[in-house]
Amino acid sequence: MNKPESTPPAHFLRQIVQADLQSGKHTKIVTRFPPEPNGYLHIGHAKSICLNFGLAQESGGECHLRFDDTNPAKEEQEYIDAIKQDVEWLGFKWSGDIRYASDYFDQLHAWAIELIKAGKAYVCDLTPEQAREYRGNLTEPGKNSPFRDRSVEENLDLFARMTAGEFPDGAKALRAKIDMAAPNMNLRDPIMYRIRHAHHHQTGDKWCIYPSYDFTHGQSDAIELITHSICTLEFEDHRPLYEWFLDNLPVPAKPRQYEFARLNLNYTVTSKRKLKQLVDEGYVDGWDDPRMSTLSAFRRRGYTSASIREFCERIGVTRSDAVVDMGMLEFCIRDDLDNNAPRAMCVLRPLKVTITNYPEGQVENLSLPRHPKQDMGERMLPFSRELYIDQDDYMVDPPKGYKRLVPGGEVRLRGSYVIRADEAITDAEGNIVELLCSYDPDTLGKNPEGRKVKGVIHWVPAADSVECEVRLYDRLFNAANPDKGEEGGTFLDNINPDSLVVLKGCRAEPSLATATAEERFQFEREGYFCADSKDSRPGNLVFNRTVTLRDSWGQ
Ligand code: ATP
Ligand code: MG
Repeated sequence: MNKPESTPPAHFLRQIVQADLQSGKHTKIVTRFPPEPNGYLHIGHAKSICLNFGLAQESGGECHLRFDDTNPAKEEQEYIDAIKQDVEWLGFKWSGDIRYASDYFDQLHAWAIELIKAGKAYVCDLTPEQAREYRGNLTEPGKNSPFRDRSVEENLDLFARMTAGEFPDGAKALRAKIDMAAPNMNLRDPIMYRIRHAHHHQTGDKWCIYPSYDFTHGQSDAIELITHSICTLEFEDHRPLYEWFLDNLPVPAKPRQYEFARLNLNYTVTSKRKLKQLVDEGYVDGWDDPRMSTLSAFRRRGYTSASIREFCERIGVTRSDAVVDMGMLEFCIRDDLDNNAPRAMCVLRPLKVTITNYPEGQVENLSLPRHPKQDMGERMLPFSRELYIDQDDYMVDPPKGYKRLVPGGEVRLRGSYVIRADEAITDAEGNIVELLCSYDPDTLGKNPEGRKVKGVIHWVPAADSVECEVRLYDRLFNAANPDKGEEGGTFLDNINPDSLVVLKGCRAEPSLATATAEERFQFEREGYFCADSKDSRPGNLVFNRTVTLRDSWGQ
């Protein structure tokens, strides 16, 4: 993969924005990111955030953060707080205060009354099932509702009574009077207001009717003087309706909607409904479980925001749907951490080693660079008689090409001496519990005399290393397209049973004892890891595997 050019590629939305600025159609562009606070943001949202905030940033414009909060039944303050945190973490700052579509409920209500007065909206008593029947389908036109020709007076009265709470949920709806035969189903007298006796996280109990997405979104854009209203392709068919409302209301501006292809990532799901199900049904340990595709999960897992922004830039912006390979996201984080994460050693499955010819009580403080290429200073590693290596780094019957420790063989301890395995001590069941080795004192920082030692393994001192827990995370799904379950199954059937392996009693080098929340490291030969932000603290270190050193998926 090549690095992107220093000037960002001119995808079609960048071209539109630049052309609008050049032609003088707009002197400044204003975009918005409009999440519904009904769940945590996921990696797909990152694409939209980078696009909306990015376009504004690179052209000296502004981007608003507006909560699209028209459905109080599914929305919560917890989600609002998490979304704000995620946007900031991604490195963006919204212009002005946080905005809410609910800030505009009074204005929207007044506009609804204007449409009624103009004979362009009516109160309809069809039940949701009846309304569906009347709507027709893609090949058949709909039929007019029997309530479509109510008088303006009657509609005004009924709408006032809906607003006052006289009717139960679903008993009536306010609909735009457009065209029941329109080929675009969105124009078949769409719903503007529903009755929903529900407490709203922003407006409390002020309202018992709530505007629909379609009646809210465009007008909110207009009120905020949004110039480019960017959304995903599934809203393309809503654009005529978006424009119908703007054309029929005295709005202060006419924003224009543009659509782009949503991000689909293989081996993962990006639907808040499914993510919520994983949380609610206990398949994962919360919205920020490091296996989730939410931004808070990626953060907790050790992803940097820079790697996610880089990923969003690399995938580009188009109008054709495609599936992006998870390997691309993993490439971005590996690339970042390879350059920026300090190195450390941690033995995941410790095997005790005693260096029999090393004097008892002697300690040598070895100094190792924190990074092979960047100047990050040094770390101290005390070398003495007892240490730990990984159980996998000693084998009695090694496969061909095994360059680690074998009976009678030699290996270099990273940053230290060459040792030779002399004897393995086993327990009653024959498990190897300790290795007795000898070291060559003449090999610190130089090759041994007269022989080649190929392998280098990681190690930690026994006495000064710190015990820790290591959580090996892997992809949550083991099917490239998790949504395609077995016949009659669901995405839940594709959960990877090995997506989390917890190792206890691991041994980390002393410099890791003070690791702080989300601090990232390359554990040499093991992968990239970070201190868990929830469970890790001095004395109880917990590290999460962000990503392995190399891509081994599909092999
Ligand atoms: P979900 O299907 O996960 O519930 P949503 O589209 O309903 O997502 P919103 O909170 O309404 O979620 O989305 C806020 C913005 O993020 C919208 O403009 C939406 O188009 C965009 N967005 C959502 N999912 C993606 C995605 N996978 N790729 C790119 N943009 C997305
Ligand atoms: Mg939505």
